[in-house]
Amino acid sequence: MPLKAAAHIEAMSAFALANFGGYDRPTLAQNESAFPPSPKAIGAGRDAVARSHLYPDPDWTLLRDAIARAYGVERELILCGAGSMELIACTIAAFACPGQNVLATSYAYNFAASAAARVGAAYVKAQERGFEVSIDAVLAAVTPATRIVFVCNPGNPTGTRIKNAELLRLRAALPGDVLLMIDQAYGEFDDQDPQAVFALAGRGDTVVLRSLSKAYGLAGARIGWGLFAPQIAAEVRKMQNSNQVSTVSLAMSVAAVEDHAYTRAIVARTSDIRDRFAQGLRAAGYEVPESHTNFVLVRFADPAVAAAADNALRGADIIVRGLSGYGLTDCLRITVGPQDVMDRALHILTALRGRQCW
Ligand SMILES: *Cc1c(COP(=O)(O)O)cnc(C)c1O
Repeated sequence: MPLKAAAHIEAMSAFALANFGGYDRPTLAQNESAFPPSPKAIGAGRDAVARSHLYPDPDWTLLRDAIARAYGVERELILCGAGSMELIACTIAAFACPGQNVLATSYAYNFAASAAARVGAAYVKAQERGFEVSIDAVLAAVTPATRIVFVCNPGNPTGTRIKNAELLRLRAALPGDVLLMIDQAYGEFDDQDPQAVFALAGRGDTVVLRSLSKAYGLAGARIGWGLFAPQIAAEVRKMQNSNQVSTVSLAMSVAAVEDHAYTRAIVARTSDIRDRFAQGLRAAGYEVPESHTNFVLVRFADPAVAAAADNALRGADIIVRGLSGYGLTDCLRITVGPQDVMDRALHILTALRGRQCW
């Protein structure tokens, strides 16, 4: 008899990362920050290397304190993870079973689908309106099998956002036994006041997730956090590996979260490069939804033109993200990189537009 994995694992496909043939080089494919982490974070990480013979703090004490102060949230509600991906996977594993549904939207972050498949739960999508989440469509898709509703705000790969009032309306209309997960990996790029959404975590039926991978430039350190009511946190922690955030990552994160001036400056510079790039693309005739993240979605005339654009950019060693995994074969997602790279990308796409008549 050949060796068999668990049937539901054999049936699932692996999570598809960007394909750019090798790591350790910057691309515009993974929504990494265009800028390095705060110099204070780099210094703190260097110092922490010498403490690597000790296990890290399993309760992330100093990081929770720093997050509580920086974001004005209760430290008792904070859980940390090895990236917010870990928190997404552990939360879904703790709350969804085979025969139940995780309900998301057409273009919600695909990793949630993998997390649902791991535990044999179905992943169901409510239709978005254009590239925007429709709360009415989400509510209409809720059934007795719905255990979790997963929404990203702002969204990846669309870059669009949901108004906070709409999220509050969603929570108020969902049954109390449905867990609402609000993934705010790009929350630092959204100028809406986060407090009303953070406060939903206190209800005991909603979790709010954040990441240090995007605005803080710590994708390589693997740190995420979220707000979890105690009864939810108790279950999620059973799914987490203990000591899963390294000593170096914890030290870097504390310093990064405390360096408000640096973060504010990086978010402002990134948003500025993004908006000029998006405006340039629109001026060239491309459809680009307004982004509240560190990337833009670009829609082309058809999949062939999108593939031609992808190739033209690759020819200049600019690697962007195709979106066939979301069924968006006529779109590319382009992360905000350094200004000179964005200038070259804009130049290439503008020239390509000049050669098409659509
Ligand atoms: C990047 C991203 C994440 C994962 O972030 P990590 O903290 O690096 O695991 C989660 N959700 C969305 C929507 C993202 O784009």
